[in-house]
Amino acid sequence: MALVIVSSPRFADHVTPAGHPERVARAAVFDEVARRWSGRGARVVEPAPAGHDDLRRVHDARYLEALAGAAGRSVTLDPDTVTSPHSHHVALLAAGAACLAADLAVAGNHPTAAFVRPPGHHAERDRAMGFCLFNNVAVAAARARQSGVARVAIVDIDVHHGNGTQWAYYEDPAVLYVSLHQYPYYPGTGGVAEIGRGAGSGTTVNIPLEAGATDADYDLALASVVVPVLEAFGPELVIVSAGYDAHHRDPLAGMRVSTEGFGAVMARLWSLAVETCAGRLVVVTEGGYDLPALGDGLEVTLETIATAPRPVTPVQGDTSRAREALAALRAVQAPYWPTL
Ligand SMILES: [Zn+2]
Repeated sequence: MALVIVSSPRFADHVTPAGHPERVARAAVFDEVARRWSGRGARVVEPAPAGHDDLRRVHDARYLEALAGAAGRSVTLDPDTVTSPHSHHVALLAAGAACLAADLAVAGNHPTAAFVRPPGHHAERDRAMGFCLFNNVAVAAARARQSGVARVAIVDIDVHHGNGTQWAYYEDPAVLYVSLHQYPYYPGTGGVAEIGRGAGSGTTVNIPLEAGATDADYDLALASVVVPVLEAFGPELVIVSAGYDAHHRDPLAGMRVSTEGFGAVMARLWSLAVETCAGRLVVVTEGGYDLPALGDGLEVTLETIATAPRPVTPVQGDTSRAREALAALRAVQAPYWPTL
């Protein structure tokens, strides 16, 4: 099996306050899934901390200094985001894991998964936000670009909009950011009109979905926007910001995606990665706060990417939310993506 999982028991060492949804127990879910897949023939590798040069491509030097200053202490970085004594090191490992997963996918033309916490997609250039310290996916994309990958596509399926990732590449035409998310909702960004700026116009594609979106809504959005946009973009690497908080059991959000629905999303992305970039698909965890739903989501993701893509059949069901979003999106993105 060509599948590689980057994972570490150290992800349990970032400790959040009692009652915080982004909790230590999520790391036990990662460990359990990694152990099971190790037994099935996947290669499980330990990450190294991200280097300063990798972080600096995305984050301000002063912000990195401030976070380093929180090492060994408990600090409140924003109303939702706190550190414990080991958090700085664990966050470095999370960014390092995303980088290693991307390196391995690019070198080997095979899928990789990085099971990390804290998550990353809300972290901005100079601030922690929404449980996120370093923007793991943005750092990995920047490293891939530096190593010669011409075009990177980031597909963010976390139920929240990835403001940090969006802003990191807002003016960069070499990194496509596509997000499906509940809207309006935290963090407030992610409207269809946010399309990128300057040379990056059109390489930010937001698909805001009303609360209650179903498996069929997600599948339609994938089939009619994500797949054609990525086919036109021609990525040499696809990174998925894999949040599982759109699951119907998730306590934070209001979507109705099932485990099978996540499987359908991953099936389309996996098929696309094989077709466009020789199977260089990197899955990096973001949110997902119902532990069984998180474990099931990771399982169905690995099940999907561990074998050759199978023919995809459209998911049946209510697609009213997707159709509404797609009509609005086409109106603003059509000049950039004529196949939409
Ligand atoms: Zn989320």
